[in-house]
Amino acid sequence: MTLVTTFTVGGLRCHTLEGGRQRLDGGAMFGVVPWTLWSTRVETDARRRIPLAMRCLLVEHSDGLVLIDTGLGNKESAKFLDIYGVENDGLEGATQLEDALASAGFLPRDVRWVINTHLHFDHAGGNTTLDPELTGDPRRHVRPAFPNATYMVQRGELEFARAANERTRASYLPPNYEPIAAADRWRLLDGDGEVLPGVGVRLTPGHVPWHQAVLIRDRGETAAFVADLIPTTTHLPLPWIMGYDLEPLRTLESKRALLRDAAAEGWRLVFEHDPATASGVLQPEGKAYTLTGVVAAPSTAPAPRGAAEGGFPVDTSSGRG
Ligand SMILES: [Zn+2]
Repeated sequence: MTLVTTFTVGGLRCHTLEGGRQRLDGGAMFGVVPWTLWSTRVETDARRRIPLAMRCLLVEHSDGLVLIDTGLGNKESAKFLDIYGVENDGLEGATQLEDALASAGFLPRDVRWVINTHLHFDHAGGNTTLDPELTGDPRRHVRPAFPNATYMVQRGELEFARAANERTRASYLPPNYEPIAAADRWRLLDGDGEVLPGVGVRLTPGHVPWHQAVLIRDRGETAAFVADLIPTTTHLPLPWIMGYDLEPLRTLESKRALLRDAAAEGWRLVFEHDPATASGVLQPEGKAYTLTGVVAAPSTAPAPRGAAEGGFPVDTSSGRG
């Protein structure tokens, strides 16, 4: 089982890290796009949910290791994990993200910078960790998961999370960001800009008002971690916008502008939630876009029972393609 794909942006080595899976309501993932259209492209489970990755991006940078988004973490209840179909247990580490980090050759203490695209639980849940050694009320023992990291997010996003209302509250869980504040580890960002040499953030509002994409640039090459602006490759067409988005018409304009720039310069887009595609290079195709240089997500499913003994039956009858 591999949890990592590796590519370079100029001279920078980058790794996608498989932080686990979750399942979200298919209708909510596609907004106004009717089931008759989206159901031909993705499969639902018995609860009408679709499988989604929780993929993060690691950049080996001369100023220290940069981690973009942190998956869902290890603090939630069994009921929560069932509702969202979460599978992110670590075999070695506290989470699958830690296992993936180890596969890339690093430990949590090696991470120097964490950048959150926004503070929803499936993007910032791994900012903090429950220490299994400590007993009592577990919420009291939540601490930064990356003990040597400075964490970055838009200032407006932290304020928005703290002012959650009935519509937004379920996604913003204070244990994912308040322990970072208590440890004085936030570096709050105000708008677009370069946060480290070659690492920039770009406001892409719509999903939430202060959502940001992260751009990695070196020697004329660019990779963009687009997060919930374009969560999967199925969301590349402009009107395919999640029902979760608070301001879908702002998403539309954020997406139009980013796709235009990405296609003009041939950016590699990294897809946080696509279960099958880790990244691909955007190219114009007529009035739409296509991906080239696609890097498939590593298969994170455990080997089927029997495979190890060589006795696993192989179905050769279905001859697809
Ligand atoms: Zn989100």
